[in-house]
Amino acid sequence: MMKPAKRVESIDLSGIRKMFDMVGENSINLALGEPDFDTPPHIRQAVKDALDDGFTHYTGNMGIIELREAISQKLNTENHIKTSPESIIVTVGATGALYSSTNALIDEGDEVIIPDPGFVAYDACVKLSGGKSVRAHLKDENDFRMLPEEILEQVTPRTKAIIMNSPGNPTGGVLEKEDIKGLADIADDHDLILISDEIYEKIIYGKKHYSPAHYSENVITINGFSKTYAMTGFRVGYLAAPPELTEDILKIHQYSVTCTTSLCQKAALAALQGPQDSVKEMVGEFERRRDLVVGRLRGMGIKCNQPQGAFYVLPEIDNPEHLVEEALKKDVVLVPGTSFGKYGEGHFRISYAASYDDLELAMDVLESLNL
Ligand code: PMP
Repeated sequence: MMKPAKRVESIDLSGIRKMFDMVGENSINLALGEPDFDTPPHIRQAVKDALDDGFTHYTGNMGIIELREAISQKLNTENHIKTSPESIIVTVGATGALYSSTNALIDEGDEVIIPDPGFVAYDACVKLSGGKSVRAHLKDENDFRMLPEEILEQVTPRTKAIIMNSPGNPTGGVLEKEDIKGLADIADDHDLILISDEIYEKIIYGKKHYSPAHYSENVITINGFSKTYAMTGFRVGYLAAPPELTEDILKIHQYSVTCTTSLCQKAALAALQGPQDSVKEMVGEFERRRDLVVGRLRGMGIKCNQPQGAFYVLPEIDNPEHLVEEALKKDVVLVPGTSFGKYGEGHFRISYAASYDDLELAMDVLESLNL
């Protein structure tokens, strides 16, 4: 029988996707990693206009210049990152940015420090690049922050990169300014690259987001439109790389996807240039839901951190696998923490990207399980 390549064999399909296969028609799906809001109308209109204008051909590999200029301006003004359109690549989601960055950087056997629990694509991208993931244990007692002093202990001569993610999936943890600065210092002192996944940048509650690229030039900043503008299906993300790396990352991007869909690039441009009130409304609603979920879980005696960003909670419980199974029997879909790495054990993830009413019903179900 034909066998796949070893590096492909070494990874699994996402555990979350497997949960989706079990979603029934009447299920309340709290496993979703995407906003349940509609894409704002002006963004959808931009696609219709582009289509009517016949904007249906290849674009430049790096993306259309108007969009790269708008991204560069956003990064300069909002994130205080010195960059230019020449260092920005428009990718197929933040996922595409992660894939191209890791594949361009990592040699066989290189080590990459990744957050654990962390987004499932980190370990997969590292392994598909031939690298080795070194898992940084994010702990409840530190509000799931990636602490520079702990990361420093995991740096070896083989470390090529550190992947960080604030606000974080699946924890909702947000790094403090000093954490970000400390991680940037490690990148500078040890000549390694910090890959900063900032996809949840705008989904943050009462805290400020900081970008490490403000402090160090050894940073690839990754972001996208999926979460902020409820545009998951458009598949548009981007990366801003150190100028000397841009061409190498472009090689992977170019030979894997050529360019991001032309129409969707126009949608992304409309998202950046149009009104931003939908973002504020969405974040306000997420915060209300977070308070509901955290309040109800704590009321049940379940230990649960107060997430400060993204739209996930990662409560702690003795036997999460059993809870996930029992909840599924009652049509509530959750994800066991181990789907996000070995340090996710003893936890389960709830995504509160579901309606307030559904979240209330789901909390009633969890309470009735009496576990
Ligand atoms: N990074 C993180 C932390 C995520 O949670 C996700 C989506 N679940 C992504 C990246 C991928 O986003 P995109 O749709 O832009 O590929």
